[in-house]
Amino acid sequence: MKKFRADLHVHTVLSPCAEIEMLPPLIVSEAKVRGINLIAITDHNASANISAVQKAALGSGITVLPGMELQTKEEVHVLCLFDTIDQIIQFQNIVDQKLPSIKNRPDYFGEQLVVDDKGDFVRNEERLLITSTALSINEAYSLVDELGGIFIPAHVNRKANGLLEILGFMPDDIPFLAVEISRHISPKHAKEEYPQLNTFEIIQNGDVHRLSDFIGTTIFEIENPSIREIKLALRKEANRSYNVNSIN
Ligand SMILES: [Zn+2]
Ligand SMILES: [Zn+2]
Repeated sequence: MKKFRADLHVHTVLSPCAEIEMLPPLIVSEAKVRGINLIAITDHNASANISAVQKAALGSGITVLPGMELQTKEEVHVLCLFDTIDQIIQFQNIVDQKLPSIKNRPDYFGEQLVVDDKGDFVRNEERLLITSTALSINEAYSLVDELGGIFIPAHVNRKANGLLEILGFMPDDIPFLAVEISRHISPKHAKEEYPQLNTFEIIQNGDVHRLSDFIGTTIFEIENPSIREIKLALRKEANRSYNVNSIN
């Protein structure tokens, strides 16, 4: 079994709220410096910069999983993670149909930039990305599951767009393999504060909007960096495992 230090919630300059330094080469070099060798790119309702980060990571020893931080109809943020660009393209096509056509106002929300693997400008994304799609959390779960991805509610403890803060409960008709907590709390404290989490596996990510947000506190012991292996680790099956070395 191999160890993978993971941060599965990383934004690029495509997310209007991310800093301008969130460019493919800088994301890769920062992860490398911190010994993080498994990341997922998860822009808000978008995926256009993933292949650029994958290209920038070639030869670095860092695996870049295609992902998205989807905002559901209920305003809940969910990490949707996949193995291949083909899967995320299929998912993106559906999300695009469910995203309202509102024009971004860069002066107010921030720029939404598509870049290449060097970090050079390719185009602006005109459509506002940080808004709710028309997908309910149940619909989104089914889509991700059918595509073979993994569906992890993001920063469940956070006031803004966290599942527990919005719904107040964990929906019992969705078999979540894990939930994500923010960097500001440990799994132990999260379970004390939210007893609803007691029966759930908990991972932690940096929700990286600037390079200093990388934390790499979740470690997977798996055979290879794939969704299948991550699922096994979260189920603690076949000798796969994970742990969270929270700083809090
Ligand atoms: Zn979020
Ligand atoms: Zn995020």
